[in-house]
Amino acid sequence: MPIFEYNCTECGGNFEKLHKTTAEPKPVCPGCGSTETRKMLSAFSSVGSTTSGAGCYSGG
Ligand SMILES: [Zn+2]
Repeated sequence: MPIFEYNCTECGGNFEKLHKTTAEPKPVCPGCGSTETRKMLSAFSSVGSTTSGAGCYSGG
């Protein structure tokens, strides 16, 4: 069963909710009890490309 992470727009708290089915109603924030929540996308992608090119030419 997938676990989705939600962010409450009312109090700004984050919480996780276990989904049994794909059609789940809006979760209620355990902090303030508001239904103004939005699902967060947990996508971890490590994309890092840093090009550091320093040319030091020592000419004599
Ligand atoms: Zn809340």
